[in-house]
Amino acid sequence: MLYREIAETYKKIEGTTKRLEMTDYLVELLKKTPVDIIDKVAYLTQGKLYADYVGIELGLAEKLTIKAVTQATGIAEKRVNEMLRKFGDLGAAVEEALKNKKQMRLFSFESEELTVEKVYENFEKIAKSEGSGSQEKKIKLLVELLNLATPLEAKYIVRTVEGKLRLGIADMTILDALSIAFGESKEMRKIVERAYNIHPDLGFIAKKLAKEGIEGVKNIKIQIGIPIRAMLAERLPSLEEILEKMGGKAAFEYKYDGMRIQAHVGKNGTKLYSRRLENLTSQFPDVVSAINEAFQGEDGIFDGEAVPVDVNTGELLPFQMVSHRRGRKYGIEKMIEEIPVVLFLFDILYLNGEDMTTKPYEERRKALEKWIKRTPRVQLAHRIVSEDMNEIKKFFNKAIEDGCEGLVAKNIGEESIYRAGAREFLWIKYKRDYKVEMADTTDLVVVGAFSGKGRRKGTYGALLMAAYNPEKDRFETVCKLGSGFTDEQLAALPKMFEEYKIEKKHPRVWSELEADYWFVPKIVMEVVGAEITLSPTHTCARDIVEKGSGLAIRFPRFTGRWRDDKSPEEATTTGELVEMYRNQIKKVKE
Ligand code: ATP
Repeated sequence: MLYREIAETYKKIEGTTKRLEMTDYLVELLKKTPVDIIDKVAYLTQGKLYADYVGIELGLAEKLTIKAVTQATGIAEKRVNEMLRKFGDLGAAVEEALKNKKQMRLFSFESEELTVEKVYENFEKIAKSEGSGSQEKKIKLLVELLNLATPLEAKYIVRTVEGKLRLGIADMTILDALSIAFGESKEMRKIVERAYNIHPDLGFIAKKLAKEGIEGVKNIKIQIGIPIRAMLAERLPSLEEILEKMGGKAAFEYKYDGMRIQAHVGKNGTKLYSRRLENLTSQFPDVVSAINEAFQGEDGIFDGEAVPVDVNTGELLPFQMVSHRRGRKYGIEKMIEEIPVVLFLFDILYLNGEDMTTKPYEERRKALEKWIKRTPRVQLAHRIVSEDMNEIKKFFNKAIEDGCEGLVAKNIGEESIYRAGAREFLWIKYKRDYKVEMADTTDLVVVGAFSGKGRRKGTYGALLMAAYNPEKDRFETVCKLGSGFTDEQLAALPKMFEEYKIEKKHPRVWSELEADYWFVPKIVMEVVGAEITLSPTHTCARDIVEKGSGLAIRFPRFTGRWRDDKSPEEATTTGELVEMYRNQIKKVKE
């Protein structure tokens, strides 16, 4: 097939903004495409060579592309750069340059014409060549194409090779076109889409459809190693509306604020994919080994959220703390040790050879519970099944206190299958709509401590901190403090607190947490935090702002200042924290 046919279709597509017209042009193209290269045509139309998850991308640097253009056209690099500035796009600049070079055009028409196969082959070699000498090789491969190309073809070749084709065709439009081109009935579109949702590879689907018809597409099954499009959540403005929409009873899960990970565990190893189906395996070797250890079955596909944790306090951390792992190949081990991630699984899509997506939520959850051994690195999403609004609200507050964004409600009826690629009301998210940022420092009293783990073995992992309630004359807990210490300070903690150690919780301390060590409230430390949240765990100002809740400080950090000048009764009071909470409420921007 001639590449000209593709280039002409692109031109027509670029000339319209109407989806239906685009679809018609695509249908026309697909119908005249020979079956054995229909996958290639589908990929090229998306500006790609493979499905995204394969991870082989075109994206030749502009500098190299300009070199190739210079060599192919004989136009000086300076001039090419000028044209690039004028047109703002190298593809358009090249088209123009070639148009002006009559002899070039004549030459290309007289010689061999470019085929789709040739273009794809050279693109593939460009994408795959690595190492020394690869730059020259890539330029040569591109020059070869440009030498044979007409101005129009050159435009699209250059755009594609730079990874900037951007025809504005959504995958769904290509699915429409495929269904029309090979269509037998209207029903087909749904079947094609379902196949795409569980095997998001347009080239593969196109070929299957062209070769085997709709029966072939119907037979597409979930496969380990091929990512499935993620199911998404709808949203509603209140927990009350969510409960009603769910029919009065639902499962409510923590909405972890990390990175969505789909883990495929099989005989040929474990692979991880992102929400956008990129392969993440090499960035999270710790998650790979964690899921391998936790999963007790033969093969399986899991959906979950990876969240960094503070090893000392067990607090969930903002995802930014590990986002710099992305795209890194080296030094990952050190990052893993410093900030490990925990994988919170919330779904299972495949288990021991069986498609689980068609089973209701509760059955999938039970399978997770049965086949996943809970380890420090793999947990199941924290959840309740409830019809009681008070209980749900309390659970929501707890989720926020624990560092989550809110809750995801999940339908528990028979209809609650895993709808790959869909955003429907089977899942409804509810995020908090305000947040209380902490502007001031606080002076808190140490009332207890937790044993350290890992690098902090032998000393304390975190201190239990409290504010003072002058009316009740007692100390009410508000956070676990594990950050901001120097190594020396950490090592010195047990000795320093030795003289205050007591067997049981001090009578003036109100705590619902069980600390490993208890102290006489004496030492005051200056602490900053990121936010104040409502807290079902901590006792500070319990029932004052909201019934059943206290206040907690999120991400507390020691400023380094010991407030030896303050007695524990001069510490920040619970009333002051309530004031801070009320004065600093801010709407969360979406
Ligand atoms: P959107 O999905 O709306 O485009 P988003 O990526 O910010 O935006 P949200 O809609 O806010 O995601 O929420 C859905 C996301 O929440 C999921 O993609 C998943 O990453 C995350 N999540 C965390 N915990 C859960 C859970 N228990 N169940 C389902 N999803 C969860």
